[in-house]
Amino acid sequence: MYNVLKIQADSRLDNSIKTKVKKAKFPFIKTVEEYDFSFQPEVDEKLIKELCNLNFMDDAKNIIFVGPPGVGKTHLAIGIGVKAALQRKRVLFFTTEELMSELIKANISSRLVEYIESLARIDILIIDELGYLEVNKAASSLFFKLISKRYEKKSTILTTNKPFEEWGEIFGDDVVASAILDRLLHHSYPFLISGKSYRMRELFKNTGKNKES
Ligand code: ADP
Ligand code: MG
Repeated sequence: MYNVLKIQADSRLDNSIKTKVKKAKFPFIKTVEEYDFSFQPEVDEKLIKELCNLNFMDDAKNIIFVGPPGVGKTHLAIGIGVKAALQRKRVLFFTTEELMSELIKANISSRLVEYIESLARIDILIIDELGYLEVNKAASSLFFKLISKRYEKKSTILTTNKPFEEWGEIFGDDVVASAILDRLLHHSYPFLISGKSYRMRELFKNTGKNKES
């Protein structure tokens, strides 16, 4: 298994790479190589492997994973993020909830401009789990500012359980939602995954085993 500790201990990697991986704040390390594409045939393996070359970053293109829980959206987002960190790119992982709360905190303490500027310098911003919780009006407009600032400059990888036509419900406002979607989707690689949950697969596998024994 490839994890932060293993990366820290890997003598082939220099310290600047280790720092980049650490600074990315990945909640766990998963690699694209560990992803079982045969379990999720809807995911275009060739395209994912191509994205691992990181050329998409040169054109500030975004990657968006849409699908139900357990299909590997976070896994793939982290997998591509790890590739970028290993190439010394600045990567930063947030859950949507963390990001919104940081934006609101920065706004309250009059640090919003600096904070958004610092996030605009991140080469790949990963925003995980958009759509599980509603985003209030104030946070929606701060999020729009951030997305606008990064638009056509830096790449964002976003995961969501909500199809695009339901984004109005997340942000409580169709106009803001479509303005955000417009910028995110304009130059992007959307992956629509409707497959079965890998977590459940493991659950069923275990139940199967229990029945046999
Ligand atoms: P999502 O973000 O879509 O809810 P995750 O990326 O968190 O799903 O995946 C759930 C768990 O299942 C993780 O441990 C992940 O590594 C694993 N997983 C999901 N899909 C696959 C797959 N196709 N091959 C290998 N592991 C997978
Ligand atoms: Mg996830």
